[in-house]
Amino acid sequence: MNNSKPMNLGIGSFVKFSTQDYPDKVSIIVFLQGCPLRCTYCYNKDLQPFKADKHIVDWNSVICHLEERRNLLDAVVFSGGEPLANPWLLEIMIPKAKSLGYLIGLHTSGYFPNKLLDCLPSIDYVGLDVKGTIDKYDAITGVKGGFKNMERSLDILLASQIQFECRTTKGDELDEIDLLEIMEWLAVKGVRRYAIQSRRDILDDGSMSMNTFDNLRVIEAGRRMFEKFEMR
Ligand code: SF4
Repeated sequence: MNNSKPMNLGIGSFVKFSTQDYPDKVSIIVFLQGCPLRCTYCYNKDLQPFKADKHIVDWNSVICHLEERRNLLDAVVFSGGEPLANPWLLEIMIPKAKSLGYLIGLHTSGYFPNKLLDCLPSIDYVGLDVKGTIDKYDAITGVKGGFKNMERSLDILLASQIQFECRTTKGDELDEIDLLEIMEWLAVKGVRRYAIQSRRDILDDGSMSMNTFDNLRVIEAGRRMFEKFEMR
């Protein structure tokens, strides 16, 4: 039981149990409010504004869950929104989760390479979004300059010892040729783990539908180019 005053650290929501978001570990996912991008396929639009008056979760309730489930959970994954935009991530949330013995995962668009660099010594795993080819990047993300920032983040990860994965969501803007181009670019850079994620749509009744992408040339190329390749 935690009687502390509520702490609003910009947490939009959290998932109490996941086996999908940190390789081979059981984690929780903390979704942080606020994102500088406006991806065409975003299914977390509620998390895009930096200030939201709904869906805000008390950080103390996350801590309670982490304390109670210490023997069942391995990792805390911070996602978003864009978690590196959150001022309390490195100051408060990561140190607390680490003090409870958890591994730290981060899902990021790579838009803030300098913040990634600051966080790197405190985290154990990164999932980096590669949103598209260089020529389609601005159209997919809705902002200018995202590709350059993502590439800088990727170079930081490649130069580090940290475990990381690159992943691309297959939205309408990307076709087979684009995906092959992205994969070749990543493989030449030295990326070893890559995943293509199916786009998810929120239906009128609030349920989610998956647009499964099943392309043999892409699958064969992925298996050839990367140590670990997934379609999910
Ligand atoms: S980076 Fe993620 S949260 Fe931000 S707009 Fe894109 S899909 Fe949505």
